[in-house]
Amino acid sequence: MSSPAAAAEPANLMEALVSLAKRRGFVFQSSEIYGGLNGFFDYGPLGVELKKNIRDCWWADMVRRRDDVVGIETSIIMHPKVWEASGHVAGFSDPLVDCKVSKNRYRADQLFFAPVVVTGADGIAQTVGYVSALESEKTAEDLQAAAEQLKRKKAIQGTLAAVQPRDFTEAKPEEISLIPSPATGNPDLTPPRAFNMMFQTNVGAMTDASSVAYLRPETAQGMFVDFKNVVDTGRVKLPFGIAQTGKSFRNEITPRNFIFRSREFEQMEMEFFIHEDDDWAKWHRYWINWCKDWLKSIGLPDSHLSEYDHLKEKLAFYSKGTTDIMFKFPFGVQELWGIAARGNYDLGQHAAASGVPQTIFDEASKKKFVPHVIEPAVGLDRIFLAVLTAGYAEEQVTDEKGNTETRTVLRLSPRIAPVKVAVLPLLKNKEQLVARAQALHKKLQRRYAVFYDEGGAIGKRYRRQDEIGTPWCVTIDFDTIEKEGDTFTLRERDSMAQRRITEAELFALLEEQVY
Ligand code: ATP
Repeated sequence: MSSPAAAAEPANLMEALVSLAKRRGFVFQSSEIYGGLNGFFDYGPLGVELKKNIRDCWWADMVRRRDDVVGIETSIIMHPKVWEASGHVAGFSDPLVDCKVSKNRYRADQLFFAPVVVTGADGIAQTVGYVSALESEKTAEDLQAAAEQLKRKKAIQGTLAAVQPRDFTEAKPEEISLIPSPATGNPDLTPPRAFNMMFQTNVGAMTDASSVAYLRPETAQGMFVDFKNVVDTGRVKLPFGIAQTGKSFRNEITPRNFIFRSREFEQMEMEFFIHEDDDWAKWHRYWINWCKDWLKSIGLPDSHLSEYDHLKEKLAFYSKGTTDIMFKFPFGVQELWGIAARGNYDLGQHAAASGVPQTIFDEASKKKFVPHVIEPAVGLDRIFLAVLTAGYAEEQVTDEKGNTETRTVLRLSPRIAPVKVAVLPLLKNKEQLVARAQALHKKLQRRYAVFYDEGGAIGKRYRRQDEIGTPWCVTIDFDTIEKEGDTFTLRERDSMAQRRITEAELFALLEEQVY
């Protein structure tokens, strides 16, 4: 039996994840044979299982196992007035900056710059130029290095001050013509302008202004627009939630970091409606905790999770508070799940724009009012990347002969692992072993995603399963057919420990761990 030694994170974890995702069929570039399309991805045979398991776990815990949340599924293309009322037509934009020479486009809030300030022998501080860098884990260091280089290049004497990075939205008009483009090194950048991120299309045969429609940039509006339908038909009473999962589309200026920020992605959102007099802060806290606990239940470690409260002065006027659950991705700590207290803004907007009142009559208080809402909104693709990030490890293992090798292991929770059990006959040319293995495989397959593999040395087969996150391998060996009890070898992925187990015990283990 092999034993794991210290696990080490590879030097470039992101590269390792992208490579594993491609090699083992989790994620491919969309339209790869045509060179790919930036910001779009396909999920392969294992990826689609992992994604479905995450979605199903969310749905089970958020909808089916709760008495106060119901699910819906709304259309991707909705009436264009929805997006006028929600504020997306006027305001769903990012600040865009063009490089006039290279034609590169940047999000102004992700493009950083700093004046290069040098103090001469006379004690006078002077700005001798500007440097720029794209946002990264080490933006300030990049800017400092660029400032030092500029000082050297211009052969300026004196003491260089530490750079004070600002993003391009904060650039003064007179600075814009001095800040170098990251692509050309020359001041070729345009002032920022608002770029609406909704994808437009046309409904019907006409392609004029009257037929313009949008691919939804979020699923949330479906819950608001169907609020009355659910209330009138669903026997719901406050507080209650409406949830849905589905595709959303945003024409992101700079899709990046693999599936973290793409142009087509899947969201899992829930609108939790509360009484207007209810304590919104209590519910907000409740849902933040719920979301964190849920992330842990699918295997994300507490050490990778944190909270970020949006600054009061940066919130939309109607917002009471937003807290993001942050995750430590390989490229830095970033938003995973946003939990927003949105007051009654959305229903109020739709009531005003449609003329249809969005009120509810509360039996308990005998009051009619527009309820307030708490919205936990998360991206499924981001959770997918988070579980790969947290689960991936390269370990040095030593076998019984003393040989050391590296094993790649994906420590996925059994709840979401694409394959739950691999069934392995020890030898493929021993009919009895194969027959017993196939019978077990068939039986397991009725309930679980299992994989049958009879090719190659048993150690190699274990490694193949480790790499895709299969929690357990079951080997049908000579003890199975020769000894009493019909037991198999159960090999556990993380510890690599082995023990004997009966079929009934195996089903009991799965029943307990896969839910
Ligand atoms: P960001 O600040 O990262 O652009 P956001 O605050 O605009 O995100 P929301 O509108 O709150 O995001 O969307 C809810 C969730 O949807 C986010 O927490 C994230 O998990 C996911 N999400 C948003 N945009 C994308 C995207 N382009 N690709 C993948 N997931 C996304």
